[in-house]
Amino acid sequence: MIDANSFELTEEERMVQSTAREFAQREVAPLARKIDHEHYFPKELIPKLGSVGFMGVNAPAAFGGSEMNNVCYAIIIEELARVCASTSVIVSAHNSLCLWPITSFGTDEQKKKYVPKLSSAEWIGCFALSEPGTGSDAARQTCMAVKEDGGWRVNGVKNWITNGPVSDVCVLFTMEDAAAGHKGITAFIVDMKTTSGVSLGKKEEKLGICGSPTSSIIFEDCFLPESQLLGKSGEGFKVAMKTLDGGRCGIAAQAVGIARAALEDSAQYASERKAFGKPIAEHQSIQNYLADMSCSIDAARLLTWSACRRKDAGVPYSRQAAQAKLFASETAMASTVKGVQIHGGYGFVKEFNVERYMRDAKITEIYEGTSEIQRLVIAANLLKEING
Ligand SMILES: Cc1cc2nc3c(=O)[nH]c(=O)nc-3n(C[C@H](O)[C@H](O)[C@H](O)COP(=O)(O)OP(=O)(O)OC[C@H]3O[C@@H](n4cnc5c(N)ncnc54)[C@H](O)[C@@H]3O)c2cc1C
Repeated sequence: MIDANSFELTEEERMVQSTAREFAQREVAPLARKIDHEHYFPKELIPKLGSVGFMGVNAPAAFGGSEMNNVCYAIIIEELARVCASTSVIVSAHNSLCLWPITSFGTDEQKKKYVPKLSSAEWIGCFALSEPGTGSDAARQTCMAVKEDGGWRVNGVKNWITNGPVSDVCVLFTMEDAAAGHKGITAFIVDMKTTSGVSLGKKEEKLGICGSPTSSIIFEDCFLPESQLLGKSGEGFKVAMKTLDGGRCGIAAQAVGIARAALEDSAQYASERKAFGKPIAEHQSIQNYLADMSCSIDAARLLTWSACRRKDAGVPYSRQAAQAKLFASETAMASTVKGVQIHGGYGFVKEFNVERYMRDAKITEIYEGTSEIQRLVIAANLLKEING
């Protein structure tokens, strides 16, 4: 048994790391440039990801999941992001934002219906909290759920939904009682392909993670029966915030993977590219860049694994997850910018992957809570811990 503060990987975690690394290199890496350049959703990877257990990483084995711990989850996401950030977020939104709240807050009937199909990758999941007018201030939901006999009538628009265009199942947040503020928010599970009154908005054209499909979802007079309520009426905000704590560990791991890609490619390039009669890796400025990238990436990974260890140990981890996400995403941005610089002119063209890493890194500072919001979460938790 590893204690919550230890950073040694267990035998199982090391095995998962080598399986994920090998899978990412063999199956994902050959498609990564097509995914980015053609904004291509890698549908052929989904069943393969399911067959190695990466689409139900934490889900209970009794419902067809892989029942791995959260450190394994971070390891898998890092390895996928190392070769393709788009693929890593398709997997992380599905696992952390859709499967996790269903396994944590769903009824037995809901778990039996959704978890096996999501874990096997037969179904893809998404999470719909953000709206056109409401991102960071998620308590101000305007997608309304009005109680009727036997269920709720839902009207409203959800924005920026990762996996939205390809999803079968959506964890949806609505406002049931605006006067109650965040205590008026109610969560539901929506069958995207079979529920009437649900449609997709336009697919977004993005700066990075171009193969991860993103769209708005429109709810028009959509009736959701009692069976679709997730958790209790009025407890949706709690479901959303607890889900995002876990999701942030996944985005931190994604950021570590992107940053590591920039470091590994840059170290290789710097060893080969010559200027002033020697490899640029022998110029001290370049060494400083590589050293700074290496320090921050290792620190970001340790923060991420530490937050995951705490989640696995069942102790509070909101602050640690926000710290990991904040530090890792800023590391990804800074490291990929340095990576482009190390590549000189070649860093600016699509012949090399490092410009993709820089475009992909930016989103890690925005989704699942911007860096500004992570600082608010960290400070609020810190002050609560100190002041009681
Ligand atoms: C590619 C992509 C995928 C996404 N996937 C999903 C998804 O699957 N599901 C989902 O629900 N959402 C998703 N989102 C939405 C994402 O979580 C939001 O974009 C993000 O939370 C920021 O919200 P916003 O865009 O409304 O920005 P705003 O909230 O309008 O913020 C704008 C700026 O103001 C700052 N700001 C806001 N409030 C404060 C404050 N109190 N203090 C200091 N600064 C503040 C922000 O940090 C930011 O810099 C996705 C977004 C993108 C771009």
